[in-house]
Amino acid sequence: MQKKDIKNLTLEELEKVIEKAGEKPYRAKQVFYWLYQKCARTFEEMSNIPKALKNVFSEEYYIGAIELCEHQKSKDKTEKFLFKLSDGNFIETVLIWATDRKTICLSTQVGCKFGCPFCASGLKGFVRNLAASEIIGQIMYLKRDLKHLMTNYVFMGMGEPLDNYENVSKSILIMDDTAGMNIGARRITVSTSGLVPGIEKLKNLGLQVNLSVSLHASNDKLRDELVPVNRRYPIETLIKACEEYRSDGGRMITFEYILISGKNDSLKDADELARIAKKVKAKINLIPYSPVSSLDFKTPTRDKMNIFMDRLEARGVQATLRDSKGKDIQAACGQLAGRQK
Ligand code: SF4
Repeated sequence: MQKKDIKNLTLEELEKVIEKAGEKPYRAKQVFYWLYQKCARTFEEMSNIPKALKNVFSEEYYIGAIELCEHQKSKDKTEKFLFKLSDGNFIETVLIWATDRKTICLSTQVGCKFGCPFCASGLKGFVRNLAASEIIGQIMYLKRDLKHLMTNYVFMGMGEPLDNYENVSKSILIMDDTAGMNIGARRITVSTSGLVPGIEKLKNLGLQVNLSVSLHASNDKLRDELVPVNRRYPIETLIKACEEYRSDGGRMITFEYILISGKNDSLKDADELARIAKKVKAKINLIPYSPVSSLDFKTPTRDKMNIFMDRLEARGVQATLRDSKGKDIQAACGQLAGRQK
């Protein structure tokens, strides 16, 4: 029998495995504690788990880990990690420092199917979904091997998280579980390019996970071009899904808007964006486009970006203009992994 990574199991699934092995289900919480709080690398370390149960685990499961290949540090403290998976594929994880928070940006797929023309992750096309253990593995590496204490967790790295809903939702359950990572859903954000069925499923998960929508354009004509999934789920459909997501539990919604020179940075774009954001009561994160050498998009001037942001605020919308992080370390997502191929 081929062994499986035990970190692919939610607490509920682990309870069933343990019951089947003839043990009491409460042992699952103890195992979770060892895996996610004590960061155990072997079953042997789990000193309060009966030997017979550890033997069952050893026959059917292993505790996997991903392998670090490259670690870059930016002058602004942004850190980028290139990990090699067991099948030889590469993924990236980014750690973003701010005064009051340390945010880990997690990958969920190798490559991406959705082909946004400004994005390095989409350039190679789609390879495969990450398993929950590989998503969780990115956090575990930073926590266990580098002793980082993260405050915020965003599914915003390579891939479209809601296209890998099954494994992303499992990861969220493990992260949120008090017996597991005990992170708390309010510190978790899922970023999507606008997969409406995925937003509905995430709502039905019933947790206070924040939603971030990569809008990047405020009318369908431009969004069809910049975020091709818009052809399937146009802006009005997306807004309706966001309204429902928000109304069911008061979760927070943010629109991500990458400012690209001459594409989406006019005052008319700002006015349309403000109208949409007010409907959903969304905050807006403006992000200067981070150049990718093989792509022909440009970053607007600082003045132009400030004018865009002022216009949003004048329209009564809360907006922030993020500094481009990690400019000196190929911070646009997918650039480091893309180089490995
Ligand atoms: S922006 Fe997101 S959805 Fe679009 S290609 Fe890149 S990773 Fe995929």
